[in-house]
Amino acid sequence: MTALLPTPTRTLADRWGRVADDLRISLIDKCNLRCTYCMPAEGMVWLKKNELLTAEEAVRIADLGVRLFGVRDVRFTGGEPLVRQDLADIIAGVRKLHPEVPISITTNGINLDKRIDSLVEAGLTRVNVSLDTVDRETFKKLTRRDRLPQVIRGLEAAKASGLEPVKVNAVLMRGINDTGAADLLEWCITRGYQLRFIEQMPLDADHNWARRNLVSGAEVRERLSQRYDLSVDPVPRGSAPAQLWEVRAKDSAPDSPVLGKVGVIASVTESFCAACSRTRITADGKVRSCLFSQEETDLLSVLRSGASDDEVAEVWAGAMWNKPRAYGSDEVTLNDPEYVQPDRTMSAIGG
Ligand code: SAM
Ligand code: SF4
Repeated sequence: MTALLPTPTRTLADRWGRVADDLRISLIDKCNLRCTYCMPAEGMVWLKKNELLTAEEAVRIADLGVRLFGVRDVRFTGGEPLVRQDLADIIAGVRKLHPEVPISITTNGINLDKRIDSLVEAGLTRVNVSLDTVDRETFKKLTRRDRLPQVIRGLEAAKASGLEPVKVNAVLMRGINDTGAADLLEWCITRGYQLRFIEQMPLDADHNWARRNLVSGAEVRERLSQRYDLSVDPVPRGSAPAQLWEVRAKDSAPDSPVLGKVGVIASVTESFCAACSRTRITADGKVRSCLFSQEETDLLSVLRSGASDDEVAEVWAGAMWNKPRAYGSDEVTLNDPEYVQPDRTMSAIGG
């Protein structure tokens, strides 16, 4: 599919030999859930409308990424991207310029059932829906909203639209939904969704993250192995953050049918920073070279100053050149006591 993408004239390279070709654009900081690992219960200060990327600006950034820098994947996220009523227009704008580029969204699934047809028609090719539990009470506790049925309707609609694979992202929180990992996998396998567990990262508004509470990728595998046999997916992982595992019935023969695959994204305990290919733009148009970075580069002001494509590209490339080695720093890692959590939460960065 990517064979027909334009030939890039530049790269988003950094000082550590990595080249970013995976673009995530956050479209909004607002959200209709309040997941405890992401947002505070209340008190978020939202960006003003004129501080947000307009649809045209989001399309221009995606176009520059694909055309000049060889971006191979464009993902829209947030906050909650479906809160943007012009999401289909943005996708259609990128699709018109780049018929071949994969365009995806990461969403909590609320109202996806009402929007999916127009998004697919606009050119959406993939969807990830975040869902941490299928127990309604636990969902309410985790997201601080009683909206599980709406998320399930969104997932069903995504499946019915023919998008493949429909991925489900889950974060496990100790004492809340960690014991439900195998139930969630069974639920996803039965319905044909590809589940991926993401280790909780220190990007929550309440600053409650603690390593001792972390449900690690190893623990996730252990929990799933109590119900299923897992074996490493034979397809090479490449630079993908998720290690995929084939799932078979418990104590079955090695050649028994694969029931499905499950991904484990061990961003904290099995760092993949050395293979990171991400470049992120926040909803207010800042380049963020790393999720954990303390530094951002204002691309929106450059766009709004009437800069040429080359001028915008130069600022973007400069910001990426300074991408830190790992976890927002060249020196400190998440394990060091000096590690400082970024001010912005995951919802404000764009996960
Ligand atoms: N609202 C959309 C959603 O929830 O899918 C898109 C934005 S959300 C910030 C993107 C992804 O980041 C979700 O899958 C969410 O579970 C994940 N996420 C948020 N906070 C996180 C954290 N502290 N650690 C790990 N993943 C996190
Ligand atoms: Fe909203 Fe997504 Fe953050 Fe949950 S993870 S609060 S759905 S932005």
